[in-house]
Amino acid sequence: MDEKKVREAIEDFKKLAELLQNKESAAVEHCNIAIEALEKQLPKKPKEEKDAYTSKLGEFRVGKCPNCEMEASDRFDICIDCGQKLDWRK
Ligand SMILES: [Zn+2]
Repeated sequence: MDEKKVREAIEDFKKLAELLQNKESAAVEHCNIAIEALEKQLPKKPKEEKDAYTSKLGEFRVGKCPNCEMEASDRFDICIDCGQKLDWRK
């Protein structure tokens, strides 16, 4: 998905949630669910990144998912727990 379009969609959902506030609480909640799902599409830097090594995999990087704190490795570009996209670039 195009990152710029995802950011624009998030902004629109935020505006929509504001317009619906105090009128349609279920719809506001649905906007917030959509925002949360879209934000996972934007790659974020893992926390506490460090080098790791196993004889089977060789060298790789590990860190924590910035969204759910689960251990993550650079073998995956998403968190296998919550689906957050991860940016392992240095
Ligand atoms: Zn996660």
